[in-house]
Amino acid sequence: MEFIPVNEPLLDGNEKKYLNECIDTGWISSEGPFVKKLEQDMASYVGRNYAAAVCNGTVALDLAIEAMELSAGDEVIMPAFTIISCITGLIRRDIKPVLVDADPATWNMNVKQIEEKITSRTKAVMAVHIYGLPVDMDPVLKIAEKYGLMVIEDGAEAHGLNYRGKRCGSFGDISIMSFYPNKHVTTGEGGMVLTDSEKIYERSNSFRNLCHKPGYRFVHEELGFNYRMSNIQAAVGVAQLEKLEDHLERKRKMGEIYQELLKDNPRFQKPLKETPYAANVYWVFGLVLDKEDPMSAREAMEKLAKKGIGCRPFFYPMHLQPALRKIGMFEGERYPVAEWLYEKGFYIPSGLSLTEEQIMYIGEKVNEL
Ligand SMILES: *Cc1c(COP(=O)(O)O)cnc(C)c1O
Repeated sequence: MEFIPVNEPLLDGNEKKYLNECIDTGWISSEGPFVKKLEQDMASYVGRNYAAAVCNGTVALDLAIEAMELSAGDEVIMPAFTIISCITGLIRRDIKPVLVDADPATWNMNVKQIEEKITSRTKAVMAVHIYGLPVDMDPVLKIAEKYGLMVIEDGAEAHGLNYRGKRCGSFGDISIMSFYPNKHVTTGEGGMVLTDSEKIYERSNSFRNLCHKPGYRFVHEELGFNYRMSNIQAAVGVAQLEKLEDHLERKRKMGEIYQELLKDNPRFQKPLKETPYAANVYWVFGLVLDKEDPMSAREAMEKLAKKGIGCRPFFYPMHLQPALRKIGMFEGERYPVAEWLYEKGFYIPSGLSLTEEQIMYIGEKVNEL
């Protein structure tokens, strides 16, 4: 069997047609009509009033932080187990990230640890939905209300995921999405900021486009960024969003087949099929070895690579990141669940182009480990 990459996108809808429209009409910049359409379609899909498309999910997080007008010295509570994109925008503004550990069953932030981390400087909670299951949002929203905190929702991995019947991307003050090729909706590279607040939207809209003063182009009262998405990217995104239900169905099916193939394998902890508040959409299919297991995730991935199967490690926890330790952050802090997830966790191919035959082969090789 040929090498199976960890992810390959599926571009089987109107992508080509819409891309040709960009070329035929000459609309390739961010001024083109697909950008507005993608914003409107996604906002109405998740149930938000406003959306601002940007060039990737990392800058969407950066823009979200800018739009919330946090200042140096403020504190934001966030998970230790997440991608570096969640923390860079805080650190560059001297905003202090305060970490909570992961939940061992869902791998999402342990919401029971949030309240004890609140100080007089806490301004926001960043909730990041991980690998196909959502954060338990009700306690997060309740705590935020009690203490007057803002909520940022990182829905980069959560297109089409529901929490208690409500779409992810619609929680809290501001949500972000990524459209990287391994996400359920891709634009190659791309992202989005979503909100119900006109003020937050206006600020996001201005900062993503250099903060031109309204009516006075090239006059700037604040220093913005160029985080714009092109019409070419948005064209792909519009076609992808049309196929989202189909993509979600594929993901669920893939997840179910993996669950079935691995159900008698006691060595790996598999993703939960559901929690009291959500059904897994299996953004990726993660596997975690027991803490006492002699094999590391790294060894397991090397063995599977030899069988032609591409895997990815789980996130490396924020408190262990060399770039952050070097500047004296998180010294002496321990988040044992996040550390275990990194040491023992990895995910197997989960892309939308995966065939049933490939899934069967992968299941067999995982069971042979
Ligand atoms: C993918 C991802 C991002 C970053 O998105 P990019 O488009 O790759 O910059 C942010 N947060 C989470 C949780 C992600 O999975």
